[in-house]
Amino acid sequence: QPLGSASPTISSSSSSFVPIDQHHVQDAIQVINEHKQFNQQIMEYIHGATLPGQIVGNDYHIISVFGSQSTGKSTLLNRLFNTNFDVMEESRRQQTTKGIWMAVSPEVSTTSSKKSTENVFVMDVEGTDGRERGEDQDFERKAALFALATSEILIINIWETQVGLYQGANMGLLKTVFEVNLSLFGQSKLENNTHKVLLLIVIRDHIGVTPLQALAETLITDLNKMWLDLSKPAELSHLKFSDFFDVDFHALHHKVLQPDEFSKDVKLLGDRLVVKKELFKPNYHHQIPVDGWTMYAENCWDQIDNNKDLDLPTQQILVAKFKCDEISNGVYDEFVAKHHGLFDDKVPGENVDYEQMGLAMVDLREDTLDDYDTSASRYNQTIYEQKRQALKEKIHAKFREVFDVHAKWVVETGVGQFATDIKKLKTRKDKSFFQGAQELEHKYVSLINTSLQLISLGEFHDSEVILDVKARFDAVVAKQQVVEMKAIIGRALAKIDAGVSKALQQELASPDDQTWERVMARFHELLAEVKARYAGTGTVPDFGLGTSDSDNVAGVERLQVQAWVALHSVVHRVITRDSVLQLMKDKFEDVFRYDENGMPRLYQKVEELETSFGAARKQTQQMVPVLEEMRTSEGAVVPRYSARAMRAAGFGARARASDAASEGSDDDSNSDSDDSDNETTPTPFSQVLSPADRDHVASRFKRETDAQFVETKRLVIQHATH
Ligand code: GDP
Ligand code: MG
Repeated sequence: QPLGSASPTISSSSSSFVPIDQHHVQDAIQVINEHKQFNQQIMEYIHGATLPGQIVGNDYHIISVFGSQSTGKSTLLNRLFNTNFDVMEESRRQQTTKGIWMAVSPEVSTTSSKKSTENVFVMDVEGTDGRERGEDQDFERKAALFALATSEILIINIWETQVGLYQGANMGLLKTVFEVNLSLFGQSKLENNTHKVLLLIVIRDHIGVTPLQALAETLITDLNKMWLDLSKPAELSHLKFSDFFDVDFHALHHKVLQPDEFSKDVKLLGDRLVVKKELFKPNYHHQIPVDGWTMYAENCWDQIDNNKDLDLPTQQILVAKFKCDEISNGVYDEFVAKHHGLFDDKVPGENVDYEQMGLAMVDLREDTLDDYDTSASRYNQTIYEQKRQALKEKIHAKFREVFDVHAKWVVETGVGQFATDIKKLKTRKDKSFFQGAQELEHKYVSLINTSLQLISLGEFHDSEVILDVKARFDAVVAKQQVVEMKAIIGRALAKIDAGVSKALQQELASPDDQTWERVMARFHELLAEVKARYAGTGTVPDFGLGTSDSDNVAGVERLQVQAWVALHSVVHRVITRDSVLQLMKDKFEDVFRYDENGMPRLYQKVEELETSFGAARKQTQQMVPVLEEMRTSEGAVVPRYSARAMRAAGFGARARASDAASEGSDDDSNSDSDDSDNETTPTPFSQVLSPADRDHVASRFKRETDAQFVETKRLVIQHATH
């Protein structure tokens, strides 16, 4: 029947064994029963037999005793380890239950009064001498495999009387042990595995006549001989007995005949184990932390019982993987619970303290990893580290959810404030827009970085939010650069507008054939002046905006084109149909009514009046050809840019209402088919007054001066007749 369903078999306390020293005695538990089943309750037993935290990780030892029935194995274990394994009663001489038993030693018997703190598990392998009774050598072999796969020290009993008898009791068992050991560790020995087992040969009923040294030499000779006789695979044949085993000896006096000496000998063995600690060595340990021991032992037994090759390193890795995962999942669940508590209610905003939040994250991560390390670090290093890394990544993924939410807010806010502040940037003599923008960007980027660094655990540099920051800032700067350049060009155009307007106003007092020469000269002068401000250092202009060379070149180009548009618009604002008419009226008045000295003229005769009137009108009318068209000695003024470029600069929109840019001044006017189709007769750029305007001005002027003439003539005639 399976062991799980029955209560674990605990060795009976009806045993006749009564310890001499009154120590606490620990009952044993059956690890493998006579049906070769593994006991599921080993871990419970270990927990029950030890104090919480008494055994941490690999801080325990396993010693097995192995050998023929009735060689005093259980007796030795009970005396040495204060356990309660079944001992055959003299009176009954029956075989004890077959199987593998284990007990936690509550205390190792020593000559010292101080209790040792070593944790020792003891395994008693019962009923292994199948060869003597001609039965079940299978179990003997499996038990040996199990003992070697788990134990650091293997105790073998030999009666003194049998030393030197090569075929004596237990020597056959040793052969099995050698073979089995070779199958377990042979292959890994070739890969420089340093693992060994200590064969502790205990000579029983040692009378003391033959010194232990001599007995040991004899036994070593026998062991070597046995090793040489062993049939080994060819690739392992060069390996020595000592590559696999350390051997040590201890002699016990006759238990019945020399009970005191026997007792002393047992305590001396205890001294060697836990006081002098000369028998345990690190390379005997199988490096399975106690939490994983049951799983490891059961896996090993499963492989052994199913006659599979028992590959110990693989088993160690499997156990390490399973346990490290289990530990990792456990600590991660706790982590998630704490994480919820700490961060779920933290809504991004002004009142989140990122320093405190970052510290809480670091603390939580460290606590979680510490918890993991405490339990997992003693498993196979590679697996432990792999699983630790995986755990760390899971932790970071969880933190990253928080990070992303807050980072988004921090970046949004920073970029938003930057966009507001950059609009208010005052360009000063000593600091260009670009320098100001850079300082501002630096300020906000470091504000963002500081906040994010606090909650990034130094890990999230690849976060999209962070990778995006630079682009976000660049976009704000680029947008503002466009605004700033527009403003700069706007100011330059205003300056040109004002300058040209002033020059024109001056000309209007008395326009002559040099008028447009001077106006255009002033225009070019103003344009050169504003361009000089953005001349830059080399051949490329610079607006101090941090814009690209090509943007700067395009900016200056736009400024120039728009300057022409501005010129056109100023001229048309100042010189209109009405303003020209008014100018002419004023001028006529001046010439007709006043003499060269500014004195009012008094006309005496009609002839005089007629001459003067004709001259004044002619002189006045001379203004019109000057003003009606922008013309210099080089001919009609033509912008240096194509109609298309002019329209792009806003010329078309304004011009279409009254005028249109001159076509054919540049190359690509034909490509603009839309406009060419509509405009049957394009108005030249240089045209200030249209023919209709001119007719209007001429007729109005004529009508008004005619009226004046008639009126004046009437006065002259009246005067003459009186
Ligand atoms: P096991 O079958 O190897 O576990 O042997 P036990 O411990 O059950 O002992 C078998 C018998 O040998 C018991 O009757 C013990 O009293 C006896 N015995 C135990 N130790 C010694 C010893 O050192 N010398 C002698 N002569 N008998 C012993
Ligand atoms: Mg026994």
